[in-house]
Amino acid sequence: MADYVFLLKNILVVSLAVNMCLILKISYYFDDDVETLTSKRGSHMNHELYLNGDKNNCFNGVNQKNNRRAEVDAHVSKTTTTKVLPKTTSSSPAAPDDGEGVVINLDHGDPTMYENFWKQKGEETTVVTSSWQYISYFSDLKNVCWFLEPELVSSITRIHKVVGNAITEGRHIVVGTGSSQLYQAALFALSPSDAPGPMSVVSAAPFYSSYPLMTDYLKSGLHKWAGDGSDLNKEEPYIELVTSPNNPDGFTRQDVVKGNKGILIHDLAYYWPQYTPISSPADNDIMLFTVSKSTGHAGTRIGWALVKDRAIAKKMTTFIEINTIGVSKESQIRAAKILQAVSDSCEQANEKEAESFFNYSYRIMEERWKKIREAVNKTHLFSLPNFTQETCSFSGRTFGQLPAFAWLKCEGEVDDCESLLRKHKIWTRGGKHFGASTKYVRISMLSQDIEFEILTRRLPKIIS
Ligand code: PMP
Repeated sequence: MADYVFLLKNILVVSLAVNMCLILKISYYFDDDVETLTSKRGSHMNHELYLNGDKNNCFNGVNQKNNRRAEVDAHVSKTTTTKVLPKTTSSSPAAPDDGEGVVINLDHGDPTMYENFWKQKGEETTVVTSSWQYISYFSDLKNVCWFLEPELVSSITRIHKVVGNAITEGRHIVVGTGSSQLYQAALFALSPSDAPGPMSVVSAAPFYSSYPLMTDYLKSGLHKWAGDGSDLNKEEPYIELVTSPNNPDGFTRQDVVKGNKGILIHDLAYYWPQYTPISSPADNDIMLFTVSKSTGHAGTRIGWALVKDRAIAKKMTTFIEINTIGVSKESQIRAAKILQAVSDSCEQANEKEAESFFNYSYRIMEERWKKIREAVNKTHLFSLPNFTQETCSFSGRTFGQLPAFAWLKCEGEVDDCESLLRKHKIWTRGGKHFGASTKYVRISMLSQDIEFEILTRRLPKIIS
């Protein structure tokens, strides 16, 4: 009898252990599922959201428990309990099914799609730094921008010469932590400190959604966001942002205000031959560029300004000096290496079998635009902008713009395109963030292949 009870006890313990294992496995699987399918970057960004302060700082007062949104530098963060494809930059896992159950987050323009090109480069673009290197705050005391690494100067000058998209002769180069910092530096440099009120900052709608946020974030007494340039009173001094090609709609832009009291900043983040035919070297007073969109190295956080006026370059440098006492030397060296590799790839494209970076990136953009147009043409619900064809002085190809974002319009009765797509698990950024109608959304064209594929499979299936 005692043996029987002992045996029964053992069976119970073993069965309990087996059950516990099962339960643990299921919950681990569930956690893993959520962890893997919920954007790891998303959760990090959510942390950033709180670091950035105001958790009530949400678009149009929307602050739902599982749908917190705030526009920060990388521009919209979200949390959700819904499955989201991971945003890791390592190789994308395949969608668990045909992708139907997953959320695709195409809200921010994280340019991860050039990753494979850079993987092929391997050692050629690897940068190794020793602990004794780049210790000083200073890079070149003779330069207006004293924290700018000479290696970066040569790589910037060379890439513009190779591509023919901007004049660098007689310009001062100011380096920034992304062109976002340079935007703020330019506003600081251009807004007089003794003016009776803050200087108006405008851009023609639809404008890049971060401009209003970056302009007013610190509630500066120097400048204030004044919205769409076409509504401005031209008699007052103003700063106009000319973004060409434009984010979000991809069109080539000129200044719109045409008043004589304006100062222009040209944001040329997308003036590269994979997005637009290069017409001539840009020759504006203040031009902003970034490796984020040119080579796809958003994480390196390097942008540069080409500035005609020495006093303005100096003031921009002062802003960065006060803001961050310069810009990471390691990042500058990495950006220099990458830009040199791009120039090499262009110059060697004919000699070696290897493909140039701009050929590779153009091919991807062309293919993606073909696919998204095919998907949109299968339904009457959506439309996309059409672009006129021009010949690119860099590649000799004739083509229409291939923007980094698709500016999608919901046709007919649909007034809130963002919500419609969200119902179908496609996260985009609605038109109102760009000073435009809610019938529009901006969709990133720079995501990883898997997300883009799901998008083009899902769009034609949407009825309403
Ligand atoms: N300007 C435009 C028009 C952009 O689209 C972006 C990136 N989304 C930036 C500036 C900022 O780029 P960075 O990553 O260099 O700060």
